[in-house]
Amino acid sequence: MSNFEKNLELAIKNAKRLSNKILIDGKLTSAKTSNKIEVINPSTGENIGTTPQCDKNDVDVAVESAEKAFQKWKRIPARERGKMVTAGARKLEERRNEIETLLALDTGNALRTQSIPETAASIELTHMFAGLSGEIKGENYPTNIPNSIHYTTRDPIGVVCAIVPWNAPLFLTVAKIAPAIVAGNSVVLKTAEQAPFCALLLAEIFQQELPPGVLNVISGYGEECGEPLITHKKVRKVTFTGSFAVGKIIAQKAAPKLCPVTLELGGKNPNIIMSDADLDIAIQGVIDGMRYTRQGQACTAGSKIYIQEKIYDKVVAGTVDKLSKFKMGNALEESSDIGAIISKEQLKRTLHYMDIAKKTSSTKIMHGGNQPTGSEYKNGFFYEPTLMSGVPINSPVCQEEIFGPVACAIPFKTFDEVMKSANDTPFGLSAVLWTQNLSRALEFVEEIEAGFVQVNQCVAPRANVSYGGLKMSGLGKEYAFDSMINHFTQSKTVLINRGKTNIDS
Ligand code: NAD
Repeated sequence: MSNFEKNLELAIKNAKRLSNKILIDGKLTSAKTSNKIEVINPSTGENIGTTPQCDKNDVDVAVESAEKAFQKWKRIPARERGKMVTAGARKLEERRNEIETLLALDTGNALRTQSIPETAASIELTHMFAGLSGEIKGENYPTNIPNSIHYTTRDPIGVVCAIVPWNAPLFLTVAKIAPAIVAGNSVVLKTAEQAPFCALLLAEIFQQELPPGVLNVISGYGEECGEPLITHKKVRKVTFTGSFAVGKIIAQKAAPKLCPVTLELGGKNPNIIMSDADLDIAIQGVIDGMRYTRQGQACTAGSKIYIQEKIYDKVVAGTVDKLSKFKMGNALEESSDIGAIISKEQLKRTLHYMDIAKKTSSTKIMHGGNQPTGSEYKNGFFYEPTLMSGVPINSPVCQEEIFGPVACAIPFKTFDEVMKSANDTPFGLSAVLWTQNLSRALEFVEEIEAGFVQVNQCVAPRANVSYGGLKMSGLGKEYAFDSMINHFTQSKTVLINRGKTNIDS
C-alpha cells in the first residue's frame, strides 16, 4: 500500500466513524434531528459522509450539557484546568496522523504543505494556552479610602458559543476552545458544514482529558443551528470566525442580551514591494503571502500585490516562475503543493471574479486563469494559481475578498500613492511591506489601517501572535494571552474594608 492509500484509508475510516455524530456530554452521539448535510471530498467531489443538520432542539441539548459542566468546571483551580488541557494536547499529539489526514480529506488542503503544519500549529496553540493557566489573575489598585483593599478578579464567563469556518477548521477551533476552557468556561462549538469531521475528531480526542460536557460539538447551517445557539439565553459569550456578512448578523443577534462577541472576519490585504526590497525574499513573500498553497483560502491572503514600477516586471516574472513549479493535486498526495478549493460553490465564486477580470480589456493573465485539465482534476474543485496584471483598482476583483487562488499585481510610483490605495478599503486585516528603508517601514506601521502588520516577512498567524482585524475585519484578538484574558474572562471589582486595627488585642 502506498502512503497515499494508507492515509486515504485512515481518513475515510474516521470520516465514516464520525458521520452523523455530534459530541454531547463527553460522548459521540446521534443528533435529535434526522436531517443531514452531505460532506464532500474537495479533491474528488465524492461523498465522504454526512453530518447532522442540527436545529434548535440539538442546540438546547448541547447548551444544557455545557451549562451543567460549567458549574463544576469553573470551580476547578485554573492550574489544574491547565494540566488537563496539557493532557488533551498530548492526546492530540499521539493521534496527529489521524487528525492531519482527516483535515486534508475534509478541506482539500494539501497534506504536506497545509494539513500537517496546521495540525502541528493547533497542538502548539493548545499547549500554549494550557501553560498560561497560572496567569489568569486580577490586579490590586491603591485607593484613597482608609483601610480599604481594592482588587479585581478574572473569572470565567459561562457557556461560550464558538462558530468556525472551513478554511482552517482545526487551528480556528483550537484558538477558541483552548483559551475558553483554560479560563474556566464550557463550550458549544458549531463546526463548518463543509468540513465538520476534522474539528469533531480533534474535539473528541481532546475532551477525553476533560470532565464530560466541558466541550460539546454540534453541526449544521448558520441560520438554523448557529442563530439559536447565539441567542440561547444561557450562552454568555460568542466567538466567531467567518465572513463580514455573517459577522454582522452575529453581532446583531447577540446584541439584545448584550452578549460579548469576538469577530474574526475577512479582508482584502495589500502586499507592498518597494524598489529597495531584497527581491528574492520579497518574491517568495508574494507567494507565501497570497497563501497560494492554501488555494488563497486564507483571511490574510495578500491578493493586492502592489509593486513599485521600477521592479514591477522583475517581481511579476519571478512570481510566475515560482508559480509554474507548483504541483496541484489530490490533497492527500504527499507530492501535492496545492490542493483543491473547498466546494463547488467556492469554485464558482472564483470563476465569477475571473469572469469579471477576463471581460476587462486591460487584464493580462500572467499565470493560471483556468481550471486545470487532466483526469486527476476531473471531479474535484481545482483552479490554477493565478496572477493577473492590468485589473483596474476599482474592479470588484481588487476590492472584494475572493477567497480563491487569484491575485492582482498593481504597479505604483510613490509610497504616498500606494499607502492611499492600500487604506482605501473598508477592510483592515493584514498588510505587508517589503523595504530596506527603516524609516519607510516605521511610517508604514504607523499609517497602515490593518490589525496584523508585517515588514520583510509574511508568516501566517500562530501561537502567541495576537491576531485580529481593524475596520470591517473584526472585533477583538485571538491566538495570544490577551485574547484569553480579554475575551474569555470577566472581571469583578472588589473593595474590602478591613476596619481599624485594635492595637490592644
Ligand atoms: P461564513 O461566514 O459563510 O461561515 C462561517 C461560519 O458561520 C460557518 O460555520 C457557518 O455555518 C456559520 N454561519 C453562517 N451564517 C450564520 C448565521 N446566520 N448565524 C450563525 N452562524 C452562521 O464564512 P466561510 O465561507 O465559512 O469562511 C470564509 C470567511 O471566513 C472569509 O471571509 C474569511 O476571510 C473568514 N476568515 C477569517 C479569519 C480571521 O481570523 N479573521 C480566519 C479564517 C477565515
